[in-house]
Amino acid sequence: MLRLDKFKRHPLTFGPTPIEHLPRMTAALGGKVQIYAKRDDCNSGLAMGGNKLRKLEYIVPDAIASNADTLVSIGGVQSNHTRMVAATAAKLGMKCVVIQESWVPHEDAVYDRVGNILMTRLMGAESRIVSDGFDIGIRKSWEDAIQSVKDAGGKPYPIPAGASVHKYGGLGYVGFAEEVRAQETQMGVKFDYVIVCVVTGSTQGGMIVGFAADDRAHRVIGIDASGTPKQLRTQVRQIVDNTADLVDLGRKVRDDEIVILEDYAYPAYGVPSDATNEAIRFAARTEAMITDPVYEGKSMQGMMDLVKKGFFPEGSNVLYAHLGGAPAINGYSYIYRNG
Ligand SMILES: *Cc1c(COP(=O)(O)O)cnc(C)c1O
Repeated sequence: MLRLDKFKRHPLTFGPTPIEHLPRMTAALGGKVQIYAKRDDCNSGLAMGGNKLRKLEYIVPDAIASNADTLVSIGGVQSNHTRMVAATAAKLGMKCVVIQESWVPHEDAVYDRVGNILMTRLMGAESRIVSDGFDIGIRKSWEDAIQSVKDAGGKPYPIPAGASVHKYGGLGYVGFAEEVRAQETQMGVKFDYVIVCVVTGSTQGGMIVGFAADDRAHRVIGIDASGTPKQLRTQVRQIVDNTADLVDLGRKVRDDEIVILEDYAYPAYGVPSDATNEAIRFAARTEAMITDPVYEGKSMQGMMDLVKKGFFPEGSNVLYAHLGGAPAINGYSYIYRNG
């Protein structure tokens, strides 16, 4: 038994997210593998929700206990994470400073005006755009922001990129695994594989620990969208070890239980390939399921390719974890101007 219950959780989501069967997508991909989606993209009423809220639920009690008055975080210009931190701050009545780095080599006239960054500003967060490039680790621009809040007499609470290397960053997705187990019993369906997009690592890292409890961590297939898989793998390893310790998993997760496929992140983080755009159109046209060019479009592309290649044995039930991110499509309006 994992000990998730010893950690405080501050509710930001509606509760367990629905799992739905995707019959048209299943048929269009050949019908030999059943495709389901777990809709973490619809998990909350806070600014359109998404995976970061599941993580933040376990971080907020620590932020409140620290007597902080300002949440400080970091992401790209079209960061879902900074939108979710801004939403959390608004909901808690805290201030919020977010650093938005120029992570994505993508040009669109309104990239820094629409979607995630628009909502971030609307919720009262101070959004500071800086020119540093992509990196999933700890950044100087973020440390400078933390210092600037202190210099102004505030009390910052730092939340790293994607909330991933935060000590409690992996707990939320341990909860995801517990939730899936309960839903499997209710539905009478067992999921053989989970497909998940991975960039800063605590979503998959938490799932790995959660599913290690019934020995199926290796069935969580991470689709890298960072384009920096070596650094990512090291970060996921650390998150898994730390989180396994926290919830008393009682054993070390083996390296071969951490599965990350590197084939779909090209050409770069935040830049969709033709195959990514095809996958985005496919999900939209078969199931009205909206995915984005940064994250879920790439995990959708990966899942489609794996089904076509016969990676999943016939009769498998595959659960696509939809983590959110649709607001970012507004920053890519030119690519989709004709659908
Ligand atoms: C952050 C994010 C991811 C990646 O999750 P990590 O925990 O950073 O690996 C995937 N999809 C969406 C929509 C995200 O916002």
